Amino acid sequence: MSIEITNKLIIISSPSGAGKTTLCKLLLKKSNNINLSVSYTSRNKRLNEKNGKDYFFVTKNKFEQLKNNNFFIETAKNFNNFYGSPFKNISNAKKLNKHILFDIDWKGARKIRNYYNKKNIIDFFILPPSKTELKRRLIKRGRDNNKEIKLRLSYAIEEMKHYKEYKYVLINQNVQKTVSEIKKIINYHELKTFQNNLLHNKLKKIINS
Ligand code: 5GP
Repeated sequence: MSIEITNKLIIISSPSGAGKTTLCKLLLKKSNNINLSVSYTSRNKRLNEKNGKDYFFVTKNKFEQLKNNNFFIETAKNFNNFYGSPFKNISNAKKLNKHILFDIDWKGARKIRNYYNKKNIIDFFILPPSKTELKRRLIKRGRDNNKEIKLRLSYAIEEMKHYKEYKYVLINQNVQKTVSEIKKIINYHELKTFQNNLLHNKLKKIINS
């Protein structure tokens, strides 16, 4: 008897510069059962980014229009730009029987938790090893100017205060190690769902026999 594994909503949040983007990319590369929820944003595209792969880049007007048409599960304003997760990403992942990965902030995570059954959500908060390391990473990636780095660093400290809202908090010292921990946790949840379904079916048979 084959039992379907319920699709999970995987949320990964972290302050800017904790290595979340690299981490999500590696996790996706190592897992063929996870789809990324590509967000929409009104911010400018960075050099290494691709429209439709990293984000869907739209104007502020277009974003507002989509928002008014209930296109998004949740939206947030970060660093004076808008970000939003479209509903269609969840239905697409469900159709493909895949988990869906949200690379979103704590505000978005809160909204997803309010919207969907908590038992289907696996949420992670990723911390940098230290504030010095966070600053170093923000400077090293060289994609933001000084003013932007300062802004992101002050936001980062505020964001980190929300780590307690997450089921799993990991310190990203080494990206390979962190991804392997995340994969183990996802496997644990898959197994738990599988066993619960199995038990549920067995009980149903016993009761109805
Ligand atoms: P960045 O501009 O560095 O790509 O992203 C800035 C922040 O916005 C990151 O914390 C990222 O996780 C968050 N973010 C990206 N997309 C979304 C989204 O659709 N919703 C929410 N709430 N946050 C998002």
